[in-house]
Parts: sequence; structure tokens; C-alpha cells
Amino acid sequence: MKSLLLEGKLLAKKFENEFRTRVHKVAEKGMTPSLATILVGDDPASATYVKMKQAACQRVGLNSEKVELPVRTTTNQLLGRIEELNDNEKVKGILLQHPVPSGIDERVCFDAINAAKDVDGVTTLGFGRMSMGVPAYGSATPMGIMRIIRHYGINCEGKHAVVVGRSPILGKPMSMMLLAANATVTICHSKTQRLSDIIKTADIVVGAVGRPEYIRADWIKDDAVVIDAGYHPGGVGDIQLEPLKNRVFAYTPVPGGVGPMTINTLIEQTIQSAEK
Ligand code: NAP
Repeated sequence: MKSLLLEGKLLAKKFENEFRTRVHKVAEKGMTPSLATILVGDDPASATYVKMKQAACQRVGLNSEKVELPVRTTTNQLLGRIEELNDNEKVKGILLQHPVPSGIDERVCFDAINAAKDVDGVTTLGFGRMSMGVPAYGSATPMGIMRIIRHYGINCEGKHAVVVGRSPILGKPMSMMLLAANATVTICHSKTQRLSDIIKTADIVVGAVGRPEYIRADWIKDDAVVIDAGYHPGGVGDIQLEPLKNRVFAYTPVPGGVGPMTINTLIEQTIQSAEK
């Protein structure tokens, strides 16, 4: 069986064409909306992700307000900058790049972002609202995954979805979104026992572990939908994808699957905020 390729990169490109028109319409009313990006410290991977997000803003006509802070920034100093951005009318969305240096209380800083500008979906309030089915911006990576799933017409209802990882920005919100789509969800983490046996029963597998090819191909059943959120040096994800390519029902490639749709979701939610 030839597996269906879930092409996040192509999809993101298609959506960007629509986004340009939407941004243009908002800008015609007098103000080009802006996404504020906050980068704290000098982690090269984080710097690259922020640059990619700024480049996406540019492609669709959004302004990006760049805030770069040194590694020694304190929680209070960062909170001060977030407050300024909350009060800045031109700024329609705020992205605080994760992870921040270990000396900063990341949760306190995420939660200081005004819910109306939480376009990356990182606040406790946003998570709670989303989980309860109240309108909220979704956490960008899982929301991007749900947009891929919906676009390719994959029905989650009644399916057993196994999410490997329970981080606040990925595994947890992913699980809640799949639950809202009527999947039966199992959440696995570092203390889970018999992980391979659980994954063998999965109709939908989401790899969000943060370890290269940790989820082995022979744990995954033939007709599964395989979503790999990981990205590691050498161009591999959290799932051993190569042997699955002609065996599973569908899979997201690495690179070119989840990553582009994460950025695309951040951009879409910034536009939604501006449209409001
Ligand atoms: P994270 O915060 O490090 O969380 C990793 C999760 O995996 C934790 O819940 C951890 O469990 C679990 N885990 C670790 N070892 C495990 C094991 N042996 N068995 C089962 N579960 C295990 O990572 P994250 O931020 O969620 O990111 C996960 C992956 O997604 C990474 O590869 C990252 O690069 C990728 N990512 C991609 C994007 C994108 O835009 N494409 C965005 C964000 C992240 P505990 O909770 O018990 O510690």
C-alpha cells in the first residue's frame, strides 16, 4: 500500500496565498498588524525558529516586532517587556520562543501574555478554554497537526489515538484536541510502561517525545495514521519513519510535515486576532 503523504509544507504554502489577501484587507483599514517575537538568550535553534517565523510574517505582509533579550534577563524584566507588548495596539500577537533560559520562570511569563494576543496558544487560560470547548487560540504545533488531519479528511471519531509526550505546548493540548475530535486518547510519557504494546493498538500515533526515532516502526500497525512532531539534526523525527512509508495509511514527513504547519498556525492566529 502506498501511504498517503501528509504534506504540511505544501499545505502551508497554499494557506499563505489566502493569508496575504486577509492581511491586505486588514491593512486597508489603516494599520498593518504586527506579530511580536521575543527571543531570550543565544540558543541557535531558537534563533533559527524565530527567524523562520519572522520570514513567514514577511511573506504574508504582517509586520514583525523583534524583541531580543540577553541570556541574563530576569523574569521581572521579561514580564515588563510582555506588559509593554500587551499595551501596544499595533501588536496583535505575541510569541515568546520556548524554551527560555533556565533562570526565567517560563510559565509565569507565558501566562502574562494577554489571552487576546496569545496566538501561539501557550497560556494556562487558553489551554483551559480550549480543553473546555470555549473559543481560544490553540497551541500552534498541535493546532497545526489538527489542521493537517482535517485537510486530508482523516476522521478521528472512535479511533484510538496515542500521544507520546505530555508537554504543556505539545502533548497535553494535542491530547485535548484529539479528544474534542472524538478520538479515544491515551497519553504516554517517560513513566509509561509497555509503551510499544500501547502503540501497537493505535490508529493514530503522535510522536512528541523529543528523542530521535525513539518510536520504532515495528511498534506501529499497518493502517495507522502517523504524525511525527519531532525534528532532530540529520533530518529525522521522533518516529522511525523510513520503514513505514509503504505500510501505514498516512504519515507526516520530516522535514516538511508538522514544522511548516506550526508556523502557519501562528500566522493564521495572528491574522484572526487582527481581524477581530
Ligand atoms: P519536551 O517538553 O521535552 O517533552 C517530551 C515529552 O516526552 C515529555 O512529556 C516526556 O515525559 C516524554 N518522554 C520523554 N522520554 C520518554 C520516553 N522514553 N517514553 C515516553 N515518553 C517520553 O518536548 P516537547 O517540547 O513537547 O517536544 C517534543 C518533540 O516535538 C521534540 O522532538 C521537539 O523538537 C518537537 N517539537 C516540534 C515543534 C514543531 O514546530 N515542529 C514544536 C515543538 C516541539 P515526562 O513528561 O514524563 O518527562
